[in-house]
Amino acid sequence: MGTTDSTAAEHHSFQAEVSQVLDLVIHSLYSHREVFLRELISNASDAIDKLRFRGVTEAGLLGEEPLRIRLVPDEAAGTLTIEDNGVGMTHDELIDHLGTIASSGSKKFLEALRAKGDKPDLMLIGQFGVGFYAAWLVADRVEVVSRAAGHEDAWRWTSNAKDGFDLEAATRSERGTSVILHLKEDQKDFLQPWQLKDLVQKYSDFVGHPIEMLGEKEEPGEGEEAVAEPGFESINQARALWQRSRSEITEEQYKDFYKHVTNDWEEPLAWAHFKVEGAQEFTGLLYLPRRPPFEMDAPGEGRRGVKLFVKRVFIMDNCDALVPIWLRFVRGLIDSDDLPLNVSRETLQDSGVVRAIKKQVARKTLDRLDELARDSSADYATFWAQFGKVVKEGLHLDHEYRERLGNLVRFDSSHGDGITSLAEYVARMKEGQEAIYYSIGETRQAAAKSPHLEALRERGYEVLYLFDPIDTLAADGLREFQGKKLVNVANADLKLDASPEAKQSEEAAAGAMKPFIERVKSVLGVRVREVRSSSRLKNSPACLVVPPGAMNPAMERLLRANGRDVPPSARVLELNPTHPLMVAIQERSAAGDESLDEWIELLYDQALLTEGSTPDDPHRFAQRMTDLMQRALANKA
Ligand code: ADP
Repeated sequence: MGTTDSTAAEHHSFQAEVSQVLDLVIHSLYSHREVFLRELISNASDAIDKLRFRGVTEAGLLGEEPLRIRLVPDEAAGTLTIEDNGVGMTHDELIDHLGTIASSGSKKFLEALRAKGDKPDLMLIGQFGVGFYAAWLVADRVEVVSRAAGHEDAWRWTSNAKDGFDLEAATRSERGTSVILHLKEDQKDFLQPWQLKDLVQKYSDFVGHPIEMLGEKEEPGEGEEAVAEPGFESINQARALWQRSRSEITEEQYKDFYKHVTNDWEEPLAWAHFKVEGAQEFTGLLYLPRRPPFEMDAPGEGRRGVKLFVKRVFIMDNCDALVPIWLRFVRGLIDSDDLPLNVSRETLQDSGVVRAIKKQVARKTLDRLDELARDSSADYATFWAQFGKVVKEGLHLDHEYRERLGNLVRFDSSHGDGITSLAEYVARMKEGQEAIYYSIGETRQAAAKSPHLEALRERGYEVLYLFDPIDTLAADGLREFQGKKLVNVANADLKLDASPEAKQSEEAAAGAMKPFIERVKSVLGVRVREVRSSSRLKNSPACLVVPPGAMNPAMERLLRANGRDVPPSARVLELNPTHPLMVAIQERSAAGDESLDEWIELLYDQALLTEGSTPDDPHRFAQRMTDLMQRALANKA
């Protein structure tokens, strides 16, 4: 640590993560060096946004000077300066903000870069809140001179990246920050005004504040007076992109703007840009990312979602209140004309305006998703693979959108390897099929192999496979689609139509089974609610089904996994009257074989296993299996 004497420079070292990031920036990232400008302009623009936001409540803070960003190339000194008159940084802020990486993203950034081996992707840089360090893509020394808004003192921060940074008192006539890049010998091209103009147009045109550069000096013509020194001229449109009409904005600009607001390197999957008029007026520009941002499931402020602006003034990042939780992957911004500029997170929670906006955000996002599903199924499949789980939460949490989400939801099914929509499922329903059937398992395989499916498969009925914990909640929340009920194949009251002959022979078999059923009941006791002959089984001897009103086993497991105390609930044991094992076992039972009680226990445990549960006493189960195998071997010998 350095001295406190303000005339001498203090020396500080970088936090370890910063050193690592810098090391990567300097040694591994070569292509696309030009992005440094986008990152530094983005920081300058944020600094102006922050100042404007504070200006709402702190009288006199803004002053008279128009807010702007300036680019000053200095050929003689070999420096490029990016200057803003935003909030600036105090002595301590310079240390904190430029010497440490606060976001937990930095570690992930390093991991992600390293994962790319010797070709790390520098485009990832902005995504992790480390944009400032992009300066070292083009500079070997960086100076930052800053004066915080409302302060008289200014400070100079200097670093060559290698040995930490120095801090000393400086002078700066007005509030704001200058980032002075001492360009590397081979990066001097970035001093060319045309080059800078090009880059601003390419990456930063939508920045809502003027980006200025000194105008070209015009040589006086013959006999003319020498012209006055040229002034600063704006080289971008300086009009927030979302305020322009859709027809004025190119696809490229939408994409670049996405990168600007989200720091994502990848292009967005789709976006919706809209203006809502009427009781509440606001503009929205919402994006669907291609991949979940690292912070999607981070709690609270760590998350980056939708930004809130009020009358063009930036108010806050990640405004939870504007977006339903099951659309938390949506990025972008909302600019309201009705909210007061001094809203806080707390007041947002009970604001009617916000509730109205949130509804529109949900509607517009769902509209866009409908469109995507309709017009570009490959993109929709990408979307669903990434965010389907989150959207399914909506079926559980927000019954208001049940119908719309029913159209968007996708499940795996017995129809093929891929996913299916419910509309496609309904279109494929067989004659006489009354419901949409689903099977729940821990894995796709378990759901597909469930004995409950056997009778349905025989009828050619399609079955949806639900194997994510959220699937069960989603199916429960959805209840029906296009008038067809969603039915769990493990429900006790599953009604399948059968031919009169089939019914008759089933009834006869069931009648013959009565005495054995009584025996099973007496062995299993309260562990089962009922024992009965089954019409749904073909290849399996037995299965457990869920009596009406009871919770299905997947839901029980889910709740238990979440720490809820769910008592075991007795299920209905169904026995397959036509299975060879059941036929033989009944004969033995009728002949008075006492050892069959152990077999009945085994049948029950097997049924528990196939529904995804664990036998009550796994040790006993294993022992019985061993005995049985031993006896089978002895008989063979
Ligand atoms: P990010 O901008 O994603 O937070 P950076 O590494 O680019 O990450 O910047 C770190 C921090 O430094 C910023 O969050 C901000 O607080 C501060 N900072 C950077 N540039 C400026 C600037 N021009 N004016 C004021 N503060 C700045």
